[in-house]
Amino acid sequence: MQNNIRKIGILTSGGDASGMNAAIRAAVRYAIYKKIEVYGYYEGFKGLLSNNYKILSNNSVGGIIDRGGTVLYTARSEIFKTKEGLIKAKENLKKSSIDALIVIGGDGSFRGARDLNDLGVNTVGIPATIDNDIYGTDLSLGFDTALNVIISLVSKIRDTASSHERIFVIEVMGRNSGELAIRSGLACGADYVLIPEIKVDLVKISNAIKNHREGKRHTLVVVAEGAAKAEEVASSIKLLVDHEVRFSVLGHIQRGGSPSAVDRVLAAQFAKKAIDFIVSGGTNAMTAISNNKISIVDFKEIFSNTKTIDKELYDYSHILAK
Ligand code: ATP
Repeated sequence: MQNNIRKIGILTSGGDASGMNAAIRAAVRYAIYKKIEVYGYYEGFKGLLSNNYKILSNNSVGGIIDRGGTVLYTARSEIFKTKEGLIKAKENLKKSSIDALIVIGGDGSFRGARDLNDLGVNTVGIPATIDNDIYGTDLSLGFDTALNVIISLVSKIRDTASSHERIFVIEVMGRNSGELAIRSGLACGADYVLIPEIKVDLVKISNAIKNHREGKRHTLVVVAEGAAKAEEVASSIKLLVDHEVRFSVLGHIQRGGSPSAVDRVLAAQFAKKAIDFIVSGGTNAMTAISNNKISIVDFKEIFSNTKTIDKELYDYSHILAK
């Protein structure tokens, strides 16, 4: 049953993540295949307030599957969160006869989508954040690409660390989550991974580094930005270990770049699920992947739970770091 969905809106919100463009492309083309018109709103919820949109055609989303960032741009809007802002957004959607809205972003953006739903606007989220901190989905768009970027950067750092026999502390993103640090640490063969979910004991780590340096050309410490600052970690280690220590903050370079194959495929799968869900009359939920299956998870469930780290994987990565 088509549920009379004729027009949908789509926007990207919060921090940009690779794979957003691939999701926009897939959503537009699948919607048009389903005879649904798509309005692309610029700069997230800000564009909903100013009614800044463009009708998207198959051609208009050509050549973007491999581009990082988002062609619809993104923004953060405080006004949108107010009652007046939400009402204005709803009115603008109504004026254009939009039947449902796809929000591509993180959990902040989904709270905005939930608030619109509470006003009677059908909404569905597509998770996209390099932090991979959204409950209910194993992966969010952008996470795999960011991991691949980190791996290629750390492998360059490893070359110099090994040549000069240095200890390197590398700070990765992730906000309050250690997901990116755990997986990049494991994938890069890091010796120690510091994450916000587990109390950092720099004295213990420095002593461990001191005792384990024998026979090692380099030591790599990956620190999540939410756990500590790389510079401070490097200074503490230097104080306790009589050895050259350098640090590197990878920064925004982790966000950009052409999406990985995993993110492109996932973007297409999420877009299809989002549209099928809208067409079936669904609202107030996000697309997700769990145990390799694409599904739908209610916003309610997402907001009342916190994603936890894979502690077993974290411990295992330290077992391998011998
Ligand atoms: P990222 O994880 O990449 O930062 P995000 O979607 O969590 O992405 P936010 O900056 O938290 O990013 O949120 C994006 C926008 O969503 C905000 O600018 C605001 O307009 C809206 N938003 C955020 N939190 C809420 C909330 N609690 N209620 C309503 N709207 C919200």
